[in-house]
Amino acid sequence: MSVAIYPGSFDPVTQGHLDIIRRASALFDKLIVAVYDKPEKKLLFNTEERVQLTQQATTQLTNVQVQSYKGLTVDFAKKMGAQVLVRGLRMSSDFEREFEMAMMNKHLASDLELVCFMASLRYQFLSSALLKEVAQLGGCLDGMVPAHVATALKERFAHSEGRQARTETK
Ligand code: ADP
Repeated sequence: MSVAIYPGSFDPVTQGHLDIIRRASALFDKLIVAVYDKPEKKLLFNTEERVQLTQQATTQLTNVQVQSYKGLTVDFAKKMGAQVLVRGLRMSSDFEREFEMAMMNKHLASDLELVCFMASLRYQFLSSALLKEVAQLGGCLDGMVPAHVATALKERFAHSEGRQARTETK
């Protein structure tokens, strides 16, 4: 059975990620979407929330499993019996970093193969980071995230604005 793992922060999951998930799940018997516990970035959603939002977005895909993990991606891949590591590549922005990570992962686990999917044209410029900025400024999120993710983003920023307003009036 072919098992692939698609690791990332998914803070939150976007249509760009989901496009890769759909395409990879059609290629492998099982796809594990691995939500990294503590990425080196400021997170908006905690691990449990990121897993839940991703799970809700992938319920239709029966061979997709969403799980959080800690530590090295290659160790988690091994633990899950994955032979393939899936990543998405957007235009120029991802290549250097992905190449660097691929070389390191190959050094750490030589039997784990990397399969990169070129991001679809319509999602080339979609990143979770940019999406969060747009959401914070009240911009339209149509076509960039599933409805439940758009709701979660709006709620999160409405709460933080409420908190900020309360602090400012003190
Ligand atoms: P981001 O770079 O959006 O903060 P992640 O760390 O969650 O995201 O990314 C996980 C993987 O998904 C990486 O391989 C990244 O290149 C890929 N990815 C992110 N956004 C897109 C997109 N819009 N289209 C294709 N792949 C993407």
